[in-house]
Amino acid sequence: MRATSSFKGQENGLYIVPTPIGNLEDMTIRAIRILKEADIVAAEDTRQTMKLFRHFEIENKLVSYHEHNKQVSGARLLADLEEGKTVALVSDAGMPGISDPGSDLIRLAIEADIPVVVLPGANAALTALIASGLSTDRFLYYGFLPRKKKDRREALETLRYEQGSLIFYEAPHRLREMLQGLLEVLGDRPVVLARELTKRYEEYIRGTVSEMIAWAAEDVRGEFVVIVEGGTGEMPEEKVLLEPLEEIEQSVATGEKPNAAIKRVAKERGIDRQELYRLYHEQ
Ligand code: SAM
Repeated sequence: MRATSSFKGQENGLYIVPTPIGNLEDMTIRAIRILKEADIVAAEDTRQTMKLFRHFEIENKLVSYHEHNKQVSGARLLADLEEGKTVALVSDAGMPGISDPGSDLIRLAIEADIPVVVLPGANAALTALIASGLSTDRFLYYGFLPRKKKDRREALETLRYEQGSLIFYEAPHRLREMLQGLLEVLGDRPVVLARELTKRYEEYIRGTVSEMIAWAAEDVRGEFVVIVEGGTGEMPEEKVLLEPLEEIEQSVATGEKPNAAIKRVAKERGIDRQELYRLYHEQ
């Protein structure tokens, strides 16, 4: 067993520095000081961090550390840390290590017995969860679901019995599809969309998953956190999946053309398209 104490005043080491997720007033005094005093600042997007530096009059050496160079850059940063330098890590926005690079560098530092100091600060997931009004007693942060339908469905299957509130991140252009996935696997649960947190057009949209699908039929913009009410923990009802015709009707009600919806549902479920077409028009 090893114990590392990570706060001894001005100790060298790896500092994890959160930055605002929209509102620049959420930058902490300590974050500004660490970014000024560190020997090196490693940033996910140096251009983005330069804007922050200009705003807070920070002048310091910036190096890039992102998903695509994290191996090479991480090794270099570790060498700097081992030499006794202080490295501050920032991501594009929010808390480094939460759905952005960061955790790899933290692991490297811990393995090399280098102190890691995490500054508390802005984070989209927790801000959204607390404002959602859904249970905070227990929650599961998932981040981004897989993009491919099959992978997403498999991922959601693992969450079906989870009793805690579920927290997801999603890009605006994939939101509707993601909500459709939630409906199919988790059912029509209460959900809160937290949009543009801390920014000018911050809003919370509350309702059920199917209501959110209807809401997202129009052009959706902004950054989103999706909070879904946890399950009961019991076996789900006989069938959470909507019947094919129900799904078609729902999609049509939210703007999809009937024939396009029939074609899509038939393909997704491996059902005969002509048969589905006949059933739909017979009702
Ligand atoms: N590390 C960040 C954090 O601590 O929140 C998250 C980084 S992740 C790459 C970016 C995603 O976070 C966005 O796609 C969105 O889902 C969510 N996000 C970031 N800022 C947000 C904001 N102001 N409002 C709503 N969601 C936000």
